[in-house]
Amino acid sequence: MTPFRMTYAGVPLDRASHIRADAGQVAALLAGGRAMLLPVWNQRHLFGDDTAASGPRAGVIPFADLDRRLIRAEAPPVFLGMQGDVPWFALGLPDSELPPDLGIAGEFRMLNEVVSLLAADEAAMVAYARAMVIWHGNHLHCGRCGAPTESMEGGHSRQCLNPKCSHRAFPRTDPAVITLIEDPAGKCCLMGRQSKWPPGMYSVIAGFVEPGESLEETVIRETFEETGVRVGAVRYMASQPWPFPATIMLGFHARALTTEINLTDNELEDCRWFTRNDLRSFGNPDGPYPNTRLPNPFSIARFLVNTWLAEG
Ligand SMILES: [Zn+2]
Repeated sequence: MTPFRMTYAGVPLDRASHIRADAGQVAALLAGGRAMLLPVWNQRHLFGDDTAASGPRAGVIPFADLDRRLIRAEAPPVFLGMQGDVPWFALGLPDSELPPDLGIAGEFRMLNEVVSLLAADEAAMVAYARAMVIWHGNHLHCGRCGAPTESMEGGHSRQCLNPKCSHRAFPRTDPAVITLIEDPAGKCCLMGRQSKWPPGMYSVIAGFVEPGESLEETVIRETFEETGVRVGAVRYMASQPWPFPATIMLGFHARALTTEINLTDNELEDCRWFTRNDLRSFGNPDGPYPNTRLPNPFSIARFLVNTWLAEG
């Protein structure tokens, strides 16, 4: 298989984790005149004009130009890593009805609405900043005792301020499995759709890993719960960071043992077996599925479909 860069992966930084523990060094990098910030406001990101020939660029603020009142004491800039001698940080802006004026042109937009126009490195940088800022926003209080927490290690942990507790939390990524299931003969694959998805879009089967479960067990359980199909062999393919808000998608191909579909848990409104030629004809106005479409090309779901199509 040709090497494939999954969208949102491949952050072009040295994460420089050895620096995080030294608060003085992190502060010196932030104030040293080279630091660049990726702002996040209300789960949105700053992007420039998308009519530019190069597409919209992610809005970046030199720390030197930042109005310090936009730094929240409880969630200071998060050290993301080094790009050469430039330290990069993520900044979660204060919650406000309207986005704050950062003094640069641009608009705050959802990452998944803009991703098709972004360079791969930018998509990865914004996704990383987003994941860190969302994690801080959800961990301002201790999950054990409820006391306020403070950012530590350049933003890569949070410490409970209650001295009797001192619980420390680390950024988490929730594992989810996503699986292309082929029928016992290897001729068809199982695709379903949720009613909330874009009209006509079918995708592969996905679900969150539960405690006490291996990834293979999740694939088998989720597939049966959602479709009634029994799965046998499971083969790992690839993974994709998916910060919407905090998931890592773990992609598999699997072989079904049965073919009868039963939408038992109502997560899917429809689910069918499709041949490779069916999938290739999706969206073709002269084909049998003119109003259907595959998952978007920036998703691991599409990668799993494309790799399966390439096998037959
Ligand atoms: Zn605590």
